[in-house]
Parts: sequence; structure tokens; C-alpha cells
Amino acid sequence: MKVKILGGHGGVTIGAHATSFLIDDQLLIDAGSVASTISIEKQSRIDNILISHPHLDHIKDLAFLCDNCFGMREKPFQVWTHTTVMGMIKTHLFNDSIWPDFSVLPTKKNPTIQFNALAPEVTVEIGGYLVTPVLVQHPSDAMGYIVEKEGKAILFTLDTAATTRIWQKAHQYPALKAIFTEVSFPNKLQKVATASDHHTPQTLAEELKKMPPGVPVILTHIKPNFRAELEQEIAELGESRIQIMSRDGMEFNF
Ligand SMILES: [Zn+2]
Ligand SMILES: [Zn+2]
Repeated sequence: MKVKILGGHGGVTIGAHATSFLIDDQLLIDAGSVASTISIEKQSRIDNILISHPHLDHIKDLAFLCDNCFGMREKPFQVWTHTTVMGMIKTHLFNDSIWPDFSVLPTKKNPTIQFNALAPEVTVEIGGYLVTPVLVQHPSDAMGYIVEKEGKAILFTLDTAATTRIWQKAHQYPALKAIFTEVSFPNKLQKVATASDHHTPQTLAEELKKMPPGVPVILTHIKPNFRAELEQEIAELGESRIQIMSRDGMEFNF
């Protein structure tokens, strides 16, 4: 599996895009920056989109993806997420006020986007991948995903604070090749991180103990204004299996 980090930041500014991971150019995880980082032609070739939770930095480019690819595809983009998240995206984004309702455009019978419900811990086959969603510690029934193909597995927590269940599940995957997780704020902003269900380097250090040993951990969702501080605090953890996502556009092959 090839994982391309289209956007790996917990914010948006010059040189920092919001969360979007593209697997093998066809399966998208979160839509924070898909419309602004790859060509429209490549956007139109994505069939399935997993959404972790409805925060704007994870869904905003669904709007522009639909707009860009309107009428270009023979079948709708299939969005997969928790029913809570689905309801929020429909109510607050594709509501004909903030943005047109592309789930009935150009026609109800042949829309640009379709929503599919995922239940926590029920594995489904999506576009040739086995996908297992697991609830994490973040608002609105946020879920992380374990994605499997050809005997290999990759785990994405997306946004979360300290959590347990996804790490229990992770131990059931001996072929787990990588863990993509988050660290958002420096230690001095622990209160903000706790209130918003995100990690700092010091809470991440505790979280690492729950993860299967030896599996590489790639850190994303860094707030752009705290990058230097975060890099220093993460280096001080002295954990050799950690890698910080250093720039958007990075590719990993597993
Ligand atoms: Zn986020
Ligand atoms: Zn969030």
C-alpha cells in the first residue's frame, strides 16, 4: 500500500494543508485538503472516502471535490463514516445554504456524492480494502481506521486524545506496518489539548506504551504555529520508532 500525505497538519497556512491521506491513489481518508493538493483529474479517480469526524479541517474539501468533479464521473463518490458524522455533514455543509446538496446533484438518481454508514468495529470491504472503524477519544463519534490489503495493515487514529480500544484492536493485527496518529499542541498547552481532545508530546509518550511494540509511528496533525516547539519536545522523548511528518506530499510504501 502506498500512503500519500496530501495534508498532514492540524491547521491551514502557506505550506501546511489539513488532514487528507490518499492510499494507492484511490482510497481517501479525510478530506481536509484533497481539492487543493492534487489535480482535478486525480481527484476524479478517487472512488471511496473515509471520514473520521466532522471537524472542518477533515471535511472542508468534500465541498470543492464535488464542485471540481461535478459531471466528470459516471458514479458518485462514496463517503463512508459514522451515522452521527454523516448527519452533521448533511445538516451543516451540504445543506443548500453553506454549499449545494451534491447528494442530489446533478440528479437524485445520479448524484455526485453518496453517504454510507459505518458501524464501529464492523469490518467492511471497500474498493478492495478491508476497513475496520474504531471509536476514538474525540467529539462527534470520531473514528480511527485500520485498513488492510494483501496481508498488510495500516492504522490511522486521526484526531484523538488518549484512547484504549483502537490499541487493543491493533494488537490483533500481526501484519500492522505503521501507525499514523496525531500530536497537536506543545506541552505548555496541555489544558487546551485536554479540552479539545488532542495530544501533546507528554500524553503521546503514555499512549506509545499502549501501541504494539516495534511498529513505526508517524505523527501528523501538528499545529503549524507550534511546529518548532513540537519537534523539539518530540525529539526529547527519545523514541526511535517515531517519525514526524515533515512536509505535506510525503509518501510511504508498505
Ligand atoms: Zn483536526
Ligand atoms: Zn478534530
